[in-house]
Amino acid sequence: IFVFIDAFGYDIAKDLDFMSDILPTKAPLRTVFGFSSACIPSILSGRTPCEHKHWNFFYYAPETSPFKLLRIFRFLPGIVANRSRLRCQLSKMVKKRLNFSGYFQLYNIPFKYYHLFDTCEKRDLFKPGGLNVGKTIVDFLVENSVPHLFTNWADPEEERIAQMTQAVREGEISFAFLYTSDLDAMLHFNSRDSDVVRNKIKWYEERFREVYQLASQKYDMVDMYLFSDHGMAEIHRTYDMISDIEALGLKFGADYVAMYDSTVGRFWFMNDEARKRITETLSKIDCARILSDEELKELGVYFEDRQFGELMCLMDAGALIVPSYMGDKPLFGMHGYHPDDKDSYALFMTNTQPDPFPKCITDMYGLMRSAAGEWIENSGHR
Ligand SMILES: [Zn+2]
Repeated sequence: IFVFIDAFGYDIAKDLDFMSDILPTKAPLRTVFGFSSACIPSILSGRTPCEHKHWNFFYYAPETSPFKLLRIFRFLPGIVANRSRLRCQLSKMVKKRLNFSGYFQLYNIPFKYYHLFDTCEKRDLFKPGGLNVGKTIVDFLVENSVPHLFTNWADPEEERIAQMTQAVREGEISFAFLYTSDLDAMLHFNSRDSDVVRNKIKWYEERFREVYQLASQKYDMVDMYLFSDHGMAEIHRTYDMISDIEALGLKFGADYVAMYDSTVGRFWFMNDEARKRITETLSKIDCARILSDEELKELGVYFEDRQFGELMCLMDAGALIVPSYMGDKPLFGMHGYHPDDKDSYALFMTNTQPDPFPKCITDMYGLMRSAAGEWIENSGHR
């Protein structure tokens, strides 16, 4: 049983008495630099973003941009265009029209710029063939006919847990994977010590205890792993990167293109003058720094074709780009900072003795693979 709780960081869980009798082993896992759009494919494939080509959602690609039609909204007054309900409805329509099966949000990119961007997650990562490059554990399970359950992330969380509980009660599967994401949303808006977060964690514990107990009644042996993809840092300051770059008077689309994620500004340059002036401006920020190629390589996000940006400027943990192309309001918590920040670490818990012991979220793939492999061996399936 693999239980994945989005954003349940090691730093949040380390002092909690959470399922410690069932899952006595608790350790930090180094995350992958990026948001869940980078972490989830890394967990499912054991590969880094520069290998599977999933990182932050949007990248500069005017030739392949599927969003050209969105330009018609560029004349909407800002007050209407930035309404989150409008963006949400439009996201659903675009997703349907373009036949995207993965997670998709238009976020807050100005309508006049959508035609410059493409997105890296068009297919459902939790279904076979979900990766841009390579294969996931889902492909492996399907190819080897391992009886399994991957709960559907598009269903409400309670339903997903009910699906899992039911499957374990029936006892037909030998591999189960449950993905939950509500805690992530809560931690963006609430302190980790708030009642809403505490109650949610308690609620998870009750549900997962039930799953474990039902499984123990039905199966001879139950290996359980509970883990996350990243933690959550509390926000203590904001920085308006867009205004500082726009004050340079360079032309977006002609001199440079930028994607302002919440924690990282990414830039593509059309001329040396723009490169020089933007680099200078970014170097002076006191709460962010430009990542070197060596660092990007170490983090597994060095793309030779510069797909996701020629220059990446990462905010210090706890500092948020506001407004950004992901949102225009400050939040309580955010992730997507440097993996070595203490709040970035993901959580790993188990009742097994893994060897080798996982160190990074990409190591979850090996654990899933050997769990599935055990079934193949025992069933004499190969
Ligand atoms: Zn999040």
